[in-house]
Amino acid sequence: MSHKLLIANWKMNHVDLDCVRFMEEFIPKFSAKREAWIAPQALHFNLVRSMGEMKGIRVGVQNVSENSFGAFTGETSAKSLRAMGGHFAIVGHSERRQFFGETSKICALKIRTCLREGLAAVYCVGETLAQREAKLTLAVISDQLLQGLNDIISPTVDKLIIAYEPVWAIGTGKTATPAQAQEVHAFIRSVLKERFPGLGEHIKILYGGSVKPDNVEELLSQKDIDGGLVGGASLKAQDFLALCGDK
Ligand code: PEP
Repeated sequence: MSHKLLIANWKMNHVDLDCVRFMEEFIPKFSAKREAWIAPQALHFNLVRSMGEMKGIRVGVQNVSENSFGAFTGETSAKSLRAMGGHFAIVGHSERRQFFGETSKICALKIRTCLREGLAAVYCVGETLAQREAKLTLAVISDQLLQGLNDIISPTVDKLIIAYEPVWAIGTGKTATPAQAQEVHAFIRSVLKERFPGLGEHIKILYGGSVKPDNVEELLSQKDIDGGLVGGASLKAQDFLALCGDK
């Protein structure tokens, strides 16, 4: 059985000293019984990577360009990130979709670039509250998955991760119940199995949306939940340790 994976999405939080303090507190107590990956601000990537590498903590970015290099002012290159020991990029986070106009079609290009450059892509999908109330959840997820994975033929299993993040549960304190999350994860699993026969059952599907120390165990005990993508509760070392099973 593969390890559960917890990914910290620090968003645009923490100055460099906060990152150092976090890692100094986190590293000695982290036992690696679960896998821990961290996505700090791109500015702090190398700092966090160098502090985390002794414990096998993988570090990545919260967004990446669909272009490998060239005249794209302000963008982050997957190629450069990989050359510096970066492991993954989050693609299609709902804040990118909402504030930066990122569509599933753009996500498809970004995922393809990540895989070409040797980065793992953590592809986020999720419905809004209005879509859930209109009973459109599975249709929305299916659409996001099929568009985002459109170009991908035969991914290496550990280079493609799906994060189910209901938009109404992100940063709101509202969590999908374990049963609600499992229902969507099972659906995602069925789409992945159909899309990638023989591989789909091994692709990790993470849940994200107000995961906290007091709800993580029940969420992770669900059959198709392979880990969590965590915002708020990943900012404090003690909380992230608890999510990683190290109280
Ligand atoms: C996220 O931003 O990916 C997230 C899940 O945030 P939070 O844990 O704060 O809901």
